[in-house]
Amino acid sequence: MEYSKLVEIYEALSGTSKLLEKRAIIAGFLKGLNSEEVESAVLLLEGRLFPEWDRRKIGIGTQTVIKSISTSSGKSEDLIKADWAKIGDLGLVAERNISSKTQSTLFSGKLTIDQVFTNLRKLSEIEGGGSTGKKIGLIAELLSASSGVGAKYIVRTCLEDLRTGAGFGVLRDSIASAFDVEVANVQTAYDLTTDISSVAKIAKTKSNEGLLALELSVGNPVKVMLFKKSESIEEGFDVVGKPAAIDYKYDGFRLQIHRSGKEIKLFTRNLEDVTSQFPDIVKMIEKDVNSKEFIIDCEVIGYDKKTGKWKPFQDISQRIKRKYEIEEMIKEVPVMIIVFDIINLDGENLISMPFGERRDKLSKVIREDPLAVSLAKEIVTDSVEKGKEFYAKALSDGAEGVMMKKLDSVYKPGSRVGYGIKIKPVMETLDLVVVGSEWGTGKRSKWLSSFILACRDGNDFKEIGKMGTGFKEKDEEGVSFGKMTELLKPLVVSESGREVRVKPGVIIEVKYEEIQKSTNYDSGFALRFPRFVRLRDDKGLKDVDDLKRVSKLAKSQRSRG
Ligand code: AMP
Repeated sequence: MEYSKLVEIYEALSGTSKLLEKRAIIAGFLKGLNSEEVESAVLLLEGRLFPEWDRRKIGIGTQTVIKSISTSSGKSEDLIKADWAKIGDLGLVAERNISSKTQSTLFSGKLTIDQVFTNLRKLSEIEGGGSTGKKIGLIAELLSASSGVGAKYIVRTCLEDLRTGAGFGVLRDSIASAFDVEVANVQTAYDLTTDISSVAKIAKTKSNEGLLALELSVGNPVKVMLFKKSESIEEGFDVVGKPAAIDYKYDGFRLQIHRSGKEIKLFTRNLEDVTSQFPDIVKMIEKDVNSKEFIIDCEVIGYDKKTGKWKPFQDISQRIKRKYEIEEMIKEVPVMIIVFDIINLDGENLISMPFGERRDKLSKVIREDPLAVSLAKEIVTDSVEKGKEFYAKALSDGAEGVMMKKLDSVYKPGSRVGYGIKIKPVMETLDLVVVGSEWGTGKRSKWLSSFILACRDGNDFKEIGKMGTGFKEKDEEGVSFGKMTELLKPLVVSESGREVRVKPGVIIEVKYEEIQKSTNYDSGFALRFPRFVRLRDDKGLKDVDDLKRVSKLAKSQRSRG
């Protein structure tokens, strides 16, 4: 099928904010595709070239795109950059500058969806000397062979920023409607495979039966089960029932470990394959898990090599991205794993087995090995009293809190079902002042959309974090980006690119997950996951929380042993 047909769909999707309309547009389009076209079209509709779990990434940055637009349009890079600064979206820049069709040497005739898809995929394979030039050449050829609007979407696909407002839910519902299958079956199939494009193909070719026949497969990551939040042990029992399992909640990162024969693969919660970053974990698994085929769910935590005490997540986060000098990293930042669930053992799918039984299986297959592999510390109880004691012990041992789990629950991939809850101490909020901001991009380009926060230090203000969450798109729904822009614009003292500095004046109450020590901000602290609570226009600059309070709160968060 011609690429221009897909471009029409992108435009139609961008033209409506109504989800039902978006669904009808996509469903109509999908119906017209043959089985070979469905997978690539669904990926392109998602604005991606590979399924979520796939290691391959397109990996194109804005500079490469600017050069490609310049090559294809014959205009200088400076001109393209100036346009970008004005418009804030390279897709639109491409559309404006590549409106007249220039000669393409690679593609004759009409550009097809398949040509765009396979050529963009090739970008991820180009490596070695001169690779940037080759990438620019390839993108420029595609841009030249497409219309201006087409170029806009090619650029946005390269930058993984499609902006058609058709998210996963719309796509899932469109697939169900196009191929006349149940939405729930599409969702279940996706949770097991994490690849909506192959699910779409199965829906088309094998209908509901095909979707239901899909199995969890060792080697392909599964969406992890998520947990709700509760405020207290009592409330936790209300959700998960009595008796319940109560685990320590460890402060590291989630890891799903797959083993099939010799092959071991490690995936993060976002299903990123991080096997090569953690050869130390691979070794632990080989040594301490007594099976050749399994999928286990665990938390990776760092420890101090001298004392063996746990370290907070921020201290090991660098290991996830680090791709070189891994051996040194292992020595410097050692980690261990704490296992808490198992969903496949010896090839048997345990997803429908009650949690209590899964946990028994897990205990039998794990050899506990200090500073390598342990089972999550757990009790099973129906007593609020015992639960509270365990929670207090968890905190004093340096854990983040506790998880409470329903003993007879199945493993539900991808869902934040009430089969497990987490309890963490509630953080006090902070009143902070905005000292800088950044203009948004795309739909938000009219608004200041991220805000630099500061606390007071005597008469001075010291930065402590950046926040863009908790605001609404529309005024009726709460404090909007528009409202923030209106308040801050008169306070702007300088601008550089998209960034602005503002005179301290707008005070907001902020909640956060944690206060961390940090060298990124001049306060020496950074807020983890700051979120807007409300405007404090009832407060003055002298009421802004000061560094002393921040420091005190940071210390009192928990004692990490
Ligand atoms: P949160 O990230 O605050 O939503 O809390 C849920 C996360 O806690 C999970 O995704 C795991 O990464 C982590 N976690 C730590 N200890 C456990 C445990 N014993 N059971 C389940 N999850 C745990």
